[in-house]
Amino acid sequence: MSLILALDQGTTSSRALLFDHHGAVRGVAQQEFTQHFPQPGWVEHDANDLWQSQLAVAREVIAKTGVMATDIAAIGITNQRETTVLWDRKTGEPIAPAIVWQDRRTFDACNALKASGAETMVRQKTGLLLDPYFSGTKLAWLLDHVPEARARAERGELAFGTVDSWLIWKLTDGAMHATDASNASRTLLFNINTGTWDDELLQLFDIPKSVLPRVVASSQVVAETSSKWLGGAIPIAGIAGDQQAATFGQACLQTGMAKNTYGTGCFMLMNTGKAPVVSKHRLLSTVAWQRVTSTNSAEITYALEGSVFMAGAIIQWLRDGLGIIGTAADVEALAISVPSSEGVVLVPAFAGLGAPWWQADARATLSGMTRGTTRAHIARAALEAICCQSVDVLQAMESDSGVALTELRVDGGASKNDLLMQLQADLLGVPVTRPKVTETTALGAAYLAGLAVGFWQSADDLAAHWQLDKRFEPSIAQDAKHEILDRWHNAVRHTIEWNRPRAKNVKLFI
Ligand code: ADP
Repeated sequence: MSLILALDQGTTSSRALLFDHHGAVRGVAQQEFTQHFPQPGWVEHDANDLWQSQLAVAREVIAKTGVMATDIAAIGITNQRETTVLWDRKTGEPIAPAIVWQDRRTFDACNALKASGAETMVRQKTGLLLDPYFSGTKLAWLLDHVPEARARAERGELAFGTVDSWLIWKLTDGAMHATDASNASRTLLFNINTGTWDDELLQLFDIPKSVLPRVVASSQVVAETSSKWLGGAIPIAGIAGDQQAATFGQACLQTGMAKNTYGTGCFMLMNTGKAPVVSKHRLLSTVAWQRVTSTNSAEITYALEGSVFMAGAIIQWLRDGLGIIGTAADVEALAISVPSSEGVVLVPAFAGLGAPWWQADARATLSGMTRGTTRAHIARAALEAICCQSVDVLQAMESDSGVALTELRVDGGASKNDLLMQLQADLLGVPVTRPKVTETTALGAAYLAGLAVGFWQSADDLAAHWQLDKRFEPSIAQDAKHEILDRWHNAVRHTIEWNRPRAKNVKLFI
């Protein structure tokens, strides 16, 4: 058997990719599906759309690559995380639209829980924060608002899952209700220290245990697909949330290795090894993956995670809001046309500032301009803003973990921008490395599945697959670097303070 099928169920599209023994892509199919915004702050998906589009692209990639089910050694699933599905165990039909990770409807519920003083316990057990982002309060909302849902759940008639569980249920025709530890760790219901659902958390969020899936390792044979879907039964052997899968796909397999994905926002994960790290900077501690060891015990690898809301989105703003570039790719030529931003700083707090500042009411500022400032300086300041935000999160990770970063592995749409990557290396002070295969999310899911069925022998083999496309070495003088970072931190302080009634002495951690 020569291939692994990766199912990558994302927020805007479902994708299916076939990988060979070398980790090379042999086929890909993709389908978008409808986003629903029924009220301000609400984001929903039709769970049947997720399933139907995922099935369609799996069938399409198999057909167009000309392979048979018997050529596929295993399936790996990776998915948009935290999105919450609740369905009827008998019919396999969702009882409500899926609540997407971006949905903010449980904001007040989270604040009420915070006010009750629950956050310390929640942080200690889950590594997360009390935020609508995670599944727990979304599931409680469904149980409380869909008619009869809570009573039906108590009677054991309903099943909850993140998107991985939902797809596994459908692929196995209801024979398996499971999730992996990486997805479970995003629910607020899972204790990352013990690797189990937690009774105290279930009580806090008022969730009946009967709705929960079984938690399995990220790399193990969980079930076989029903043969009616893909022309034969195929083992499902890998499961991981998208960012965790990307970290595995980047072969960040040793403690202290980190990846940054430059998409709409930035997602940084650092492998922190076999014990969760408690963050002092409000970063998340999360399960990176769980693997079965040679002694047959299931071992969790943990990660610190930090995200930056505005990365590629700043470039979209230059294009659509300011109209100073025609396409996102134009930003590189414009920014390189000047040797520096000449003191211009853009703090992109368009929707507040995320990690490590967490200032929801901050708003963006563009400062340091002179009469000589041009759109080229603003373009350069935009790229520097992406890098400076990533430096802040990565330095927080280093401080939390006590591990100094030696290299940053990168992927995502904006990582194609060489100037951006060079600026990142310069400001971070460590090399930035971009791999040849940038399909790291799907590749990670394929790796997890392939390891479980012996398609690949060891994680070390996978690390050897990782092939460099381009390495960016830090090359600016320390003085110049500190000048940019100092100016950035000054601007961040002003951004946090500027629309407050009276300047407060905001303590910055650096
Ligand atoms: P997502 O998965 O979040 O949709 P992608 O990984 O597809 O994001 O990357 C798209 C983002 O990258 C867009 O926000 C776009 O503005 C930005 N982008 C694309 N090309 C470049 C480029 N050459 N330089 C900087 N940003 C870019």
